[in-house]
Amino acid sequence: CIILGIETSCDDTGCAIVDSEGNILGEALHSQHLVHLNNGGIIPPIAQDLHRANIERVVNEAVQSSGIPFKEIDAIAATVKPGLPLSLMIGTKYSKYLCRKHDKPFMPIHHMEAHALTARMCDKSVEFPFLVLLISGGHCLVAVAERVDKFLLLGESLDDAPGEAFDKVARRMKLKNLPEYSKLSGGQAVELAARKADNPLAYKFTIPLQQYKNCNFSFSGIKNQLLLHLQREEILHDVPADRVIPGVYNLCAGFQIVVTRHICHRVQRAMEYAARKNLVPPDKQTLVVSGGAACNNFIKGGLKMVCDEYGYKIVRPPPKFCTDNGVMIAWNGVERFKENIGIYHDWEHIDVENSAPLGEDLTNDVE
Ligand code: ATP
Ligand code: FE
Repeated sequence: CIILGIETSCDDTGCAIVDSEGNILGEALHSQHLVHLNNGGIIPPIAQDLHRANIERVVNEAVQSSGIPFKEIDAIAATVKPGLPLSLMIGTKYSKYLCRKHDKPFMPIHHMEAHALTARMCDKSVEFPFLVLLISGGHCLVAVAERVDKFLLLGESLDDAPGEAFDKVARRMKLKNLPEYSKLSGGQAVELAARKADNPLAYKFTIPLQQYKNCNFSFSGIKNQLLLHLQREEILHDVPADRVIPGVYNLCAGFQIVVTRHICHRVQRAMEYAARKNLVPPDKQTLVVSGGAACNNFIKGGLKMVCDEYGYKIVRPPPKFCTDNGVMIAWNGVERFKENIGIYHDWEHIDVENSAPLGEDLTNDVE
């Protein structure tokens, strides 16, 4: 099969055409990242305007680069949930327009499922069931992917997502005012700044939720610990409003270490629970890691150590497939199309949803 996929759940307008073997026949992506960076965060109506302004060009670019005529495309897939409704609406409406125009079926896609399944396109050895950790700007969860359309949610964040925490602390530390980080996301800036630390343990942090035996996450406490250190240093060194503190690299490193240790703890719990309940086969244990914050090599390094200890293989798609893109939506369409699920010939009733659970919620069962 050949599927065209469209992604507009947040701040990336993406489109791709993918075949049943996972060959990317054509793709295009427009990122609104710099606009939102200058606004200090995503303003939904602005994101919507930018999706509206770019969707047609992005789709045309993907289709033209593929050289595939519409008559060879089997279905059109689009993210319908979860995400910013104003953003989701643009991709969903445009997909329905294409379905009508070219007489194609519509395939509504769950954004987080798409993040999880992309690993199967990048690494053909990833088979169901596998454990998956999704860490991004809007989400944080650990789940078992049992089938294309069956997930068991083991844990999620009780407050901020990790990417969100990285973005907030980077802004508060004013990393953007250092020219080398001015165009980077908060997460990228903190990761690079942390590499310059001469004493990564200079600032004390405590790991959240250590006494809880479930798999849930929490990042707002870590963020607040950083803000307290920062405030104290700013006063101590009388730092002007547009300047970073002298210990900024060490502070970034300390933050990144505690975030990583926390994520690793929760994943360890998930591995232990999955083993107790026989949710993953002991001989073929795989941890898939994806989402924007999965681009962080320090976090990946920590997870690799946990995987080695627990006999898991770690699979992280290349960074461009960890962040939002059209390919992951088209690939999810391919996986569903092969199983003959979620293909709609009558799709007027399908609406966007800002929040949508990923599969069966076991977060209260895990201990
Ligand atoms: P979602 O996918 O949940 O809707 P999103 O669109 O914000 O959210 P992505 O596009 O997957 O998420 O990723 C963006 C997020 O990833 C940002 O919060 C950014 O700070 C974070 N991020 C990117 N690179 C890194 C990195 N190297 N380390 C940590 N975080 C990172
Ligand atoms: Fe995403």
